[in-house]
Amino acid sequence: MKNHGAIVRESFIVTIDGPAGSGKTTVSRLVAEGLGFDYVDTGALYRGVAYTAVNANIGLDDDGALDRLCRSLTIRMVREKDGLHIFVNEADVSGKIRTPDISMAASTVSARPVVRRYLLKLQRDLGRDRQAVFEGRDMGTVVFPDADVKFFLDADIKVRAERRHREMTHGHDVTIEQVQEDMMRRDKNDSSRTVAPLKASADAVYVDTTDLPIPQVVDLMIAHVSDRLGQGAVP
Ligand code: C5P
Repeated sequence: MKNHGAIVRESFIVTIDGPAGSGKTTVSRLVAEGLGFDYVDTGALYRGVAYTAVNANIGLDDDGALDRLCRSLTIRMVREKDGLHIFVNEADVSGKIRTPDISMAASTVSARPVVRRYLLKLQRDLGRDRQAVFEGRDMGTVVFPDADVKFFLDADIKVRAERRHREMTHGHDVTIEQVQEDMMRRDKNDSSRTVAPLKASADAVYVDTTDLPIPQVVDLMIAHVSDRLGQGAVP
């Protein structure tokens, strides 16, 4: 991968949306690193809310209880040596939010407008006066419609399921077929919900990562951002 050096600007938002397993997380982290930008994984915010709701025995469709929960939460993201950590009410939940159950719970709570409203504000606050790469499902469409550069990553469902299966932490005894089934269910939830469904923004650069190795995807994306910076994409 080429070293593109740090780029200094006051505020510059790059959004990367796409379904699970499209390579978003790895690519977003590397693109941010290559540009010298911060990286924000917004899926971790939905997972943090879902994890807390499950632990508090809150019905994932109980809007009143979810609203009260959101109002009582303090969520922080901290970059540490081993990656991005998420703290909910000062407890580090990073190691607990990547299970299949929490993935599904996150997809369920993410369809609730009260949760999206709460996280919309939090995400916009996180993007203020910052050079950052925001990764999620509705970054380019809803959260940062005026982002400087937008990408939408996608890949064949089989390839996405294989990637996710490979990434899964030990102890989750699941087959690739189960991962693919879960993924299709989540894709369906995420794409069909009425509020902020997963879809590419009309002005996003569409990248199909099915046959492209990660370093190539990252180089292509950094080159695109660098071009925009060179053209003075930001006033
Ligand atoms: O990206 P990740 O798989 O960690 O996201 C978990 C879930 O959070 C997704 O399935 C999706 O339902 C939800 N999500 C969302 N909007 C975002 C990021 C994640 O609805 N911006």
